[in-house]
Amino acid sequence: MSKAYRWFLCGALLSLALAIVCPALAAEKINLLIIDGQNPHNWKGTTPRINEMLEKTGRFSVDVLTSPDKGAPKEAWDNFRPEFTKYGVVLTNYCGEPWPEEVSRAFEKYVSDGGGLVVYHFAVASFRDWEAYNNMIGMGWRDANFGDSIALDADGKVVRRPKGEGPGAGHGPQHPFEVMVRDQDHPIMKGMPAKWKHVQDELYHGQRGPAQDMHILATAYDAPESGGTGLHELMAWTIPYGKGRVFVELLGHDVAQTIAPDCAALLCRGAEWAATGEVTIPVPAGIDAVAP
Ligand code: ZN
Repeated sequence: MSKAYRWFLCGALLSLALAIVCPALAAEKINLLIIDGQNPHNWKGTTPRINEMLEKTGRFSVDVLTSPDKGAPKEAWDNFRPEFTKYGVVLTNYCGEPWPEEVSRAFEKYVSDGGGLVVYHFAVASFRDWEAYNNMIGMGWRDANFGDSIALDADGKVVRRPKGEGPGAGHGPQHPFEVMVRDQDHPIMKGMPAKWKHVQDELYHGQRGPAQDMHILATAYDAPESGGTGLHELMAWTIPYGKGRVFVELLGHDVAQTIAPDCAALLCRGAEWAATGEVTIPVPAGIDAVAP
């Protein structure tokens, strides 16, 4: 056996071993774009940490695109032209002024042609008057007159609160709360504890919108004594938009909540699912499971 051939064999065996041990490394990386730049939340703190957690999975190659500041002149937006089609998935940490018309149209086409989208926490409050965006997210941070809201009752049955009835978007004071999985077989949720304790965070309720075709993945009981509705409010769901897969995730008010293992798992696994329809990223240790 020649020396060169021995080296070749060695390399081939090593790659094979790596592929067996780390399937995520062997798979091609998913290009992911985080969009931020305007958001009344701490986007300057959360975006780098989300970037870090995504990169750490070995599954993504991440770019960040930051929009012009609020109130920036129109020309400042001329360079804001995300190349959506370069990406398997877009994660929005953006809540601010409408994007230029051309960008909005390109985004609609990107998602409906099969692009993935992850909508994180307060990004659901963005783009109130953009019909397609409302259809993509199903429900968002809007007032009660904007549209319907869905939640689950004690038996797990869907309660539809019609437009104008019941609370609009809001949350009680921050507190730790339990998150319950509603579809254990969905790729994003498979292997997650059936119920777990989330850190002190905002428990969003009364999200509003067209609320069509939403697939509920996880809920949290919004206790009246914590300023809640007495219903199980949606924390995570999926929704199709054309050929695209959208994952909406409401946990993660600030850095501490976003890097909590449960929120990190949802964001990473949700992003992989939105891009590919499958999930290979393992459920991390440290999620505080509680008896269902
Ligand atoms: Zn918040």
